[in-house]
Amino acid sequence: METEAPGGPPETRLLVRLAAELAIKSRRTRHNFQRQLLRNLRDALGTTAAPYRIDESWSRILVRSASPEAADVVARVFGLSSLSPIERVVAPDVDAIVAAGHDAFRERLAGRTFAVRARRAGEHAFTSRDIEVALGAALLPYAAGVDLGRPDVTLSVEVRETEAYLFTERFAAAGGLPLGVEGRALALLSGGYDSAVAAWLLLKRGVALDYVFCNLGGDAYERAVVQVGKLLADAWSFGDQPRLHVVDFGPTLAELRAKSKQSYWQVVLKRLMYRAASRIAAELDAGAIVTGEAVGQVSSQTLLNLRAIDPVATLPVFRPLIGFDKEEIIARARRIGTAALSEQVKEYCAIAPGKPVTAARLEAVVAEEAKLDLGILDAAIAGRKTLDLRALTPTDLVAPYLFADEVPAGAVVLDCRPVEQFRAWHLPGAEQRDEWELLQRFTSLDRGPTYILYCMHGIQTAYLAERMQRAGYEAYSFRGGLRGVMRWWERGGGGPAPASQ
Ligand code: ATP
Ligand code: MG
Repeated sequence: METEAPGGPPETRLLVRLAAELAIKSRRTRHNFQRQLLRNLRDALGTTAAPYRIDESWSRILVRSASPEAADVVARVFGLSSLSPIERVVAPDVDAIVAAGHDAFRERLAGRTFAVRARRAGEHAFTSRDIEVALGAALLPYAAGVDLGRPDVTLSVEVRETEAYLFTERFAAAGGLPLGVEGRALALLSGGYDSAVAAWLLLKRGVALDYVFCNLGGDAYERAVVQVGKLLADAWSFGDQPRLHVVDFGPTLAELRAKSKQSYWQVVLKRLMYRAASRIAAELDAGAIVTGEAVGQVSSQTLLNLRAIDPVATLPVFRPLIGFDKEEIIARARRIGTAALSEQVKEYCAIAPGKPVTAARLEAVVAEEAKLDLGILDAAIAGRKTLDLRALTPTDLVAPYLFADEVPAGAVVLDCRPVEQFRAWHLPGAEQRDEWELLQRFTSLDRGPTYILYCMHGIQTAYLAERMQRAGYEAYSFRGGLRGVMRWWERGGGGPAPASQ
C-alpha cells in the first residue's frame, strides 16, 4: 500500500519497524492496528508540510520524506519499535551491494571492529549469508577486524524484491500501541509534571485522550496548562484531535471555602474535580478517567484520601503513576517534553493553604461535601470552554491570556510610562516602573501578588506580561493601555490596594 502527498522528490528514507507487540496479535487485530498506525503515520508526516510517501508492502514500513524532521515525528508515533535512516538504496544484487557498502562505510571503519548483518525477503539468486561474506571481505582491509559478538559498527543490509537498503543506525521509537486502538479516555490535566506524564502513558497504550482542566487560578495559570495540553496534542497525538475542556472552578472554590472545613478542602476539591470529569467523560462517551496521582506523593494522595475521593467517579479511574517516584516522573516528563512547561505551572499551585487531613474518613468527607450547593459546579461544567488543542495557534495561546479589563483587589499596579507622564496622572496606588528596567529585573519581584501593568497603548506591557507569565508570574497588561485604565477608573474602578514594595 502506498500513500503519496503531492510535491517534489522525497529525500529522507526511513526503515520503520513495528512494535513487537503488534506482531503477536491475531491476524484481524493486527490488520486493524496496522491500519490505524498508518493513519497516524500519515498524520505525523503531514505535520511536516513536506511531501512524503509510505510504502508498507512487508512487515516493515518504508517512509520517504523531503522533511529533515521526518525521523523525529515518526519516532513519536506509537506502535513502532525502532527506525533506521537508510544510507544507500541499490539494486538487489551482491555486486551492487558490495560496491555501495564499500563506498559508504569504509571510512567509518578505521580502527573499529564491525559485523555485516543481512536480511532478505523475496526471490533472489543469492542468500543473506552471501552478502555478509562478500561485503565483510570487501571492508575487512579498512577495519580493526570482524567481531560478530560485540562489533563497534553494525552494517545492515535489507534486501527486498526490487531494492536493497544499507544502513548502520537504529533509533528507538516510542513503542506502545497505535493511538486510538484502545478507545478514548478523559485525563484530568493540572499541567504539573504528574498529570502530563500520566496522560502520555495512556496515549502510549493506544488510548486517545481529551483533557479537562479545573481552573482554580487566573488566566496565566490556564494559559500554562493549555500549553502543556498543546504539547501532548501536537507532539504525541498523531491521528487524533484532542480537546481541552476548561471548567472555571472559581465559584465552586468560593463555595467550598465559605461552607466547609479548611482541613477538608483538598479532598473535597478533588472529589469535585472527579465529579466534573465523570460528567464530561459521560458526554464524550469516554471509557475512563486518568489522573496523575502516586500513592503518598502529597497529602491528598494518601491511600485513605484516595479512597475518600474515588467513589464519586462514575467510570474507572486510571492512575498510571501510582507506583512512580517523583524523580522517575520528572525524568519522563523531560523525555516527553512537558517538563519545562510543567516547571512553570508549579508556581500556580498554591490552592488551599493550611494543613489538609491526610486520613480523611469517608463519612466526614461526604458530610463536608454535602454542605455545598453542587448546582454551582453543574453551572461551571455547563458553561465550560472547549479548546481544539491542535488547531490553536501561537497567537491563540498568548493573546487571550495577556490582558486584564480591571484591577483585581490586592493586585500590584505598575505604570510603565515615563516618569513625567506618570506625574501628570496615574492610577491611584500605582507605582512607576521603567519598562526596560522592569524587563531586565522583574524576577526580583515578589511572586505572590497579581501584577497589572499599563503603558500608553498596552502593547509594550503586553510583551512584559508575556515574559512575566512565562516566568511563572500572574501578570497582565491592562487592555487599551492608559485610556483603558482611565475609563475603568472613571467608571468607579476600585483602584489597587497600596502596593507593598
Ligand atoms: P500534578 O503534578 O499533575 O499537578 P500533583 O502532584 O500536583 O499533580 P494533585 O494536585 O494532588 O497532585 O493532583 C493529583 C491529580 O489530580 C493530578 O495529577 C491531576 O490528574 C488531577 N488534578 C489536580 N488538580 C487539577 C486541576 N486543577 N485540573 C484538573 N486536574 C487536576
Ligand atoms: Mg498539581
